[in-house]
Order: sequence, then C-alpha cells, then structure tokens
Amino acid sequence: VKAQLLWLLLATAPIAIVAVAEPPNIDLVKRDLKAYHSKDYMTDIGAKIKEARDWVDQDAPQVKKPAVVLDIDETSLSNWGEIVANDFTFVINGPCGTPPTPPCGNIAWDQSTRATAIEPTLAFYQEATKLGVAVFFVTGRIEEPSERAATELNLWKVGYRGWAGLYMRQSKDRGSVAQFKTAARKKIEDLGFTIIANVGDQDSDLAGGHAAKWFKLPNPFYLIP
Ligand SMILES: [Mg+2]
Repeated sequence: VKAQLLWLLLATAPIAIVAVAEPPNIDLVKRDLKAYHSKDYMTDIGAKIKEARDWVDQDAPQVKKPAVVLDIDETSLSNWGEIVANDFTFVINGPCGTPPTPPCGNIAWDQSTRATAIEPTLAFYQEATKLGVAVFFVTGRIEEPSERAATELNLWKVGYRGWAGLYMRQSKDRGSVAQFKTAARKKIEDLGFTIIANVGDQDSDLAGGHAAKWFKLPNPFYLIP
C-alpha cells in the first residue's frame, strides 16, 4: 500500500505543478501594443539603429564597395496609420479612406504614399549615403509598376534619396520571404558590393546570411514568416 501511495504521489504531483496559463486577452494585448508604440518603440529602434550606425562608421572604410540593405515596412517606413485603422488585422484589398478608417486595404494604403519615415533609420540612411555606402532596399512588397512607383514616391517624399537599388518580390514567387531576400542580397554581392549591414524588423529579413552583421528592429505588431 505504501509503495502504491508513493507511486500515486509521484504520478500526480507533476500534473498539479504544470498549470496551463490562460492566454493573454486580445484587447489587453492591443492596448499594450498602442502603449508601447507611443512610449518605448522609437527609443528601442533608435538604440538598435545606433548599433548599426557605429558598425557602419567603423567598417565602411575597411571594405571595397560597402553596401547596406534595408527592409522597407516597419524598418524604413512606418505603416502605423494602416495598422491602427485595421485594429492589428491585415486587409489586403479594398479602399483606404482619409483618414484611414477600417477596413484600410493594404494596396490602397501603399498607393496613397502616406507611410511616414522611421526617423532613426532615415538618419542612418542619410549618414551612410554621405559616407559613400550604397544603400539597397529589399522589400516583400510586390513588383508591379504602380506598387513600385508608389513605394519609390513614398520613400522619396519622406526623405530617402539616391538609393542604389530597390528589390521587390515577384507576385508569382512561391518561395519564402527569407529565400527571396537572401537571393536579392546575393545579387547585390554579385554586383561587387560587400554588404556590411542588413537591417530589418522581421527574422525573415535577416535569415540566410549574406551580410557581415544584421540588426533586428522591434516589431511586435505583426509577423512575416
Ligand atoms: Mg518590414
């Protein structure tokens, strides 16, 4: 009986310890995301960009044809207006009003060129280009004439000027975002550039190497696998 009791204690005790936590409440998470955006988000981006800046200042003079790769959305441009209008969901089609109201279609939002600069990244961009570093944008936005025109106009409007290249994803591309972005960096290297820094807000921007260092900006608002 004693042995049975011991067995029973051992068998049941772990079950009592491993309590399953209730998942976070979605409305409280959204509230926290808005608070984070208004408080620490830009500071956290600034700290990470400073690491990239310090590295580029140091390494650019050491290599032949130095290049920096930047992602666009939530790295160079902020789509906060669209994100909040859609209450953290993603809407691809349909219009996006002025001011953006739900639903705000992503293609319409991009076409409206209302994304704002991520200021620390813009300052980094301007300093890098001043140093003679070639800056390339590599984005998951689709390669399509009106999308390219709107993306270039939006970048230009908020202060990005004189980039070395802009790689966009083909609509028929069935590979992963990380595969597309890695292939784009290989193409940049094939042009003779040394990619000293790759900056993005998603792991899929940075996976796959082909950069001396990479810098991950915070983005708790959405995930691009
Ligand atoms: Mg991004």
